[in-house]
Formats: sequence, structure tokens, C-alpha cells
Amino acid sequence: MKRAVIFCSASYSIDPKYNDAAREAVRALHRSGWTVVSGGTVKGTMGVIADESAAVGGTHIGIVPRFMSEVLHPGLSEVVWTETMSERKRKMREGADVAIALPGGIGTLDEVIETLVLSKLNRFHGHIVALDVDGFYEPFKALLDHYVATGMLDEASRALISFPATVGEMMEEIS
Ligand code: AMP
Repeated sequence: MKRAVIFCSASYSIDPKYNDAAREAVRALHRSGWTVVSGGTVKGTMGVIADESAAVGGTHIGIVPRFMSEVLHPGLSEVVWTETMSERKRKMREGADVAIALPGGIGTLDEVIETLVLSKLNRFHGHIVALDVDGFYEPFKALLDHYVATGMLDEASRALISFPATVGEMMEEIS
């Protein structure tokens, strides 16, 4: 089974449009037979996508640090416990054919940047996409382009991440 790791917000204070897009993405992934891997807690978008997987009967694996056990999502297909956040990031990526960043905060940014760096160094071999819901990722895109313009980042590495604007576009890119 193809495996998609999803990085996303742990916040309860975001615009509902981001969680609507997250539900749509997870439904589309399961419909196409993907296993979803996430941070596996009930918090924010993470909880929303685990709920959605359970509702549609999709396989959803949560990678959860032991110190977050009290916020473990109860509907996961499988739980993988880790001791640290670093180990969690490594295990989330393990075997992933695609890494998907949904709109998120600094935790999501950390996860996607680490994945991008590993991809640049040929240590991660999947696709990397950031779902650009309503232009959410425009500032991040602009930062990457600024890095290219100033020689801090080469074009080939910049091209390792794409920014589909819709779930349909994202599914086309990763299939
Ligand atoms: P953020 O984007 O800052 O809301 O952080 C969420 C992302 O980072 C998720 O993909 C998680 O893997 C990880 N993370 C950071 N903080 C938390 C938290 N309080 N609870 C669960 N996961 C978290």
C-alpha cells in the first residue's frame, strides 16, 4: 500500500476552511488506496484527519511521542510510540511515498523543512507537496524563491517541493 505522511496543524484556532481541505485530502487519499501516517493526536487538524480516516474506514497510523499519550487519538488503525519528537519525525517519514504538508504552524514547518533537507541530500525519496489552501503557503513559496534568487538554494532543490492549490491537483501530482 502506498503511504502518505501528513504534517498538519495541532491548533484549535484555525479557519475551518483549512480543516475542510484536510478532510477532503484524506478522503481522496483513502479512496485511492493510500495509507495515511500522521502525528496521531486528537489536536487540531491532526484530530480532524484521524476522525475522517476512521469515518471512511481508511488505514491511519499515528506516530506518537510517549509524553503525548494523554492526547492520543482513539480511532487509529495502529500506534507507533516514540521517545522524542526527532524520533517521531524520522518514523513518520519511514517508508513514505509522499510527504504532504497541510496548512500548519511551526511544527508543520519544521517537519516539512526537515523532509526537504533530507530530500535535497538524497535521504528522502518521496514526493513533497504543500497543499496551498487559499494561498496559505504563498509566503513560504516566496521565501524559497528568495533563497533561489540570492543563490542560497539551487533550482533543482527548490523543485523538490510543489504547491498544488487543490486536492485534485495534489492527487494528480502524487499518483
Ligand atoms: P503545528 O504545525 O505547530 O500546529 O504543529 C503540528 C505538527 O507538529 C504536527 O504535524 C505534529 O506532528 C507536530 N506537533 C507539534 N506540536 C504538537 C502538539 N502539541 N501535539 C501534537 N503534535 C504536535
